[in-house]
Amino acid sequence: MGAQRYIAKGVEVWCLEDGANTFGDAVFPDLDDATRAARLAAAGLTGADTAFNVYLLRHPDGAVDLVDAGCGTRFGPKGGLLPARMKALGVGPGDIRNLIFTHLHADHCGGAVRDGAPVFPNAQVYVHPADIAAFNGPNEAGAEIPGAYAGRITEIADGDELPGGLRVWGLPGHAPGHCGLWIGEDFALVGDILHSFALQLPDPDLCPVYDRDPEMARASRRAALERLADSGAVWSGSHGIGPRFLRVTRDGAGYRTTPA
Ligand SMILES: [Zn+2]
Repeated sequence: MGAQRYIAKGVEVWCLEDGANTFGDAVFPDLDDATRAARLAAAGLTGADTAFNVYLLRHPDGAVDLVDAGCGTRFGPKGGLLPARMKALGVGPGDIRNLIFTHLHADHCGGAVRDGAPVFPNAQVYVHPADIAAFNGPNEAGAEIPGAYAGRITEIADGDELPGGLRVWGLPGHAPGHCGLWIGEDFALVGDILHSFALQLPDPDLCPVYDRDPEMARASRRAALERLADSGAVWSGSHGIGPRFLRVTRDGAGYRTTPA
């Protein structure tokens, strides 16, 4: 399950697992024990398992982009597998053309900087300015991005067209500048709109403590799931486990997924 592939409009999309974790009960404080247990059991899980997914996009012209960069060393042995996963695909750090951040949480950008230096020496960086402003505190992984990639950062906003036929999908709330990406009309990367599919798909209003603005995160999550259900688009989420490329349909008050 470490690397899964889907082809969207001629773009080879690899979902590469940088690491994995199991969320403790405190991550979803609004969930009572019985409901949590029932939802996990329905999904065949004993804990709120999660993955740290990075996406490698190989374009028809040979250019290679990354969507997020994984944890690097920020989460110890729970993350940091991205370089090995890339190597297995024959891709080195210097091969990355564009590095697009869904947002600047450490499990998405920690792998982009090492000792203050850029891990991807030739990459142009695309990131929403609201996240550069929000994650600039001491010891925050996001705070290292502007310095390490100085002079090659492009600010993105909802609807922007990026090289290779990518389009920015503004999904604020989890982080102020949180974004997904569309490739054409039938494929989307949704970033962190969901942290535990098992716990949140039955109730899209359920937020993890990591959603910085819960009301806005709920609105973005619901809008995204509605659009994905209506369009039948294939999508993948940064914290998905199991089959990574999915379709979603409505199911009562919530949603359920089927592998693409
Ligand atoms: Zn996040």
